[in-house]
Amino acid sequence: MRALVLEGPERLVHHSGLPDPRIEQPTDVIVAVHRAGICGSDLHPYLGRESTAPGTIPGHEFVGEVVAVGSRVEHLRTGDRVFSPFTTSCGDCFYCRRGLSARCPRGQLFGYLPPEGTAESCEGLQGAQAEFVRVPLADSTLLRLPSAFSPEEALLLGDNFTTGYFCAKSACIKPGDLVAVVGCGSVGLCAIVAARFFQAVEVIAIDPVASRRRRAQELGATPAPPEQAAGCIRELAGAKGRPGADVVLEAVGSPVAQELAFQLVRPGGTIVAIGVHTSEHFAFSPTAAYDKNLTYRAGRCPVRSMLEEVVPLVETGELNIPTASVITHPSIPLSDGPAAYRMFQERRDDCVKVLLDPTCTPS
Ligand SMILES: [Zn+2]
Ligand SMILES: [Zn+2]
Repeated sequence: MRALVLEGPERLVHHSGLPDPRIEQPTDVIVAVHRAGICGSDLHPYLGRESTAPGTIPGHEFVGEVVAVGSRVEHLRTGDRVFSPFTTSCGDCFYCRRGLSARCPRGQLFGYLPPEGTAESCEGLQGAQAEFVRVPLADSTLLRLPSAFSPEEALLLGDNFTTGYFCAKSACIKPGDLVAVVGCGSVGLCAIVAARFFQAVEVIAIDPVASRRRRAQELGATPAPPEQAAGCIRELAGAKGRPGADVVLEAVGSPVAQELAFQLVRPGGTIVAIGVHTSEHFAFSPTAAYDKNLTYRAGRCPVRSMLEEVVPLVETGELNIPTASVITHPSIPLSDGPAAYRMFQERRDDCVKVLLDPTCTPS
């Protein structure tokens, strides 16, 4: 098969002639990938901020069709159109039963092979930026694509949209709250939709990139570049008779974004960090957090658990997945993946969400 292979930092190569994945466990299925997303968190291994074994196929966002089924798979058949959370999960452990599928002990992240010599016990799982991907624990991981959903909507449900929703939900937004969103990439834009769903009175969307601020504005937020965010919030909060941002949703995952979130949140307010952080320390001190009576929540979205709540809200039209605002590049041939990564990393061409198309054969 053809796939993108990460051979080292910024050494992403499109390979053909790789072995197709095979059923390894009776609970596996193989999915032919129709679209695979490039995610902001793919940049951590791509840029070497996180290490993975050489030979890793990245990608944890995908929709496709089941083409092979293990002998103990009960609910899926070949030909089913499916989408996937970015991790697998068993559906039956302590965490899965409590809505925290992201911490399933049997769960694995697609597109992550642990580097050799690390103490990690997980065997790792190849990713979906490929023609085919193996999905372990398929019955409790994959979802069939509801006929009303487009592949683009389903792809965003598997990660960015549900993550944005989880971020806003974790903040316990109350009607009338003033909410700031730091970072208007795909997850940040989805978090704006969710914050409005939870009846935030005003959403301030902060990003240094003008085109991303424009997209945030289309979704009903008040845009601000980072250097003007504090002033903008002061003004809006004053007009609403509030002391500042009640909630800050941090959708970047960098120390700079964390520090900004801390500056912007009012005393007694809440920060929810949904961006993948790779630094060792907080950007603010325990003393500063104490002095602000801060609530801080963090962690990977339990997508599989959250979908039980999110899919019905989308089906009834209470939540709209903002595919048009988020997906800027719906179909880039897999063979152009290395160039697409560079464009995505440099934020060129107004790009927010880039989808790779492995079904498009290179000319
Ligand atoms: Zn992702
Ligand atoms: Zn589990």
